[in-house]
Amino acid sequence: LFITFEGGDGSGKSTQASLLAEWLTAQGRTVVRTREPGGTDVGVEVRNLVLHHRGDIDPRAEALLYAADRAHHVATLVRPALKRGEVVIQDRYFDSSVAYQGAGRVLDAKEVRDLSLWATDSLLPDVTVLLDLDENLARTRLDAADKPFDRLENEKAEFHSRVRAGFLALAEAEPERFLVLDATRPIDELAAAIRARVEAELS
Ligand code: C5P
Repeated sequence: LFITFEGGDGSGKSTQASLLAEWLTAQGRTVVRTREPGGTDVGVEVRNLVLHHRGDIDPRAEALLYAADRAHHVATLVRPALKRGEVVIQDRYFDSSVAYQGAGRVLDAKEVRDLSLWATDSLLPDVTVLLDLDENLARTRLDAADKPFDRLENEKAEFHSRVRAGFLALAEAEPERFLVLDATRPIDELAAAIRARVEAELS
């Protein structure tokens, strides 16, 4: 089973992914918890390159770098784990590229998606949890937690509203795959909703 978590920075993806991983592990499942960008050694280098590069990277170059990370990650870690019958729980996947490089950087959404499908040999998640959060709330949350903003710090508000709208459009286009949750709900309520969906998928 391949489960991905999507949403903007500060939406609680990592918290919920960890809670789900703990629960599944307690049920006796073998869980691989990973993320993009940065789930492999190659990915860590791509992550550093893309996120800590001084100055702008051309949007197409950025899309290719994320796709390269994704290709390596899927081929060397995700697919082998799925083949062994394990559950893969991943922070961000190609929906993030469609939202950030597509809607955010204004590349064509279909082209960005097709690039990722080529990179991954069309590996689709079974379930994608979208934690939807207004970017102003996200900023306040990250501030309170004294966490770095990544792009929230240096991108303008319009960028983040485009990304959010991009995610919501993806969820609307594929309602069977997506579970969209209001990220302002309490952590345990969100975790219960996610568990219910995953349980249904496993039975
Ligand atoms: O969630 P995480 O901290 O790994 O994301 C770091 C940043 O990477 C995000 O804030 C986002 O700006 C960027 N990102 C992106 N395109 C992707 C994945 C991540 O722009 N496909």
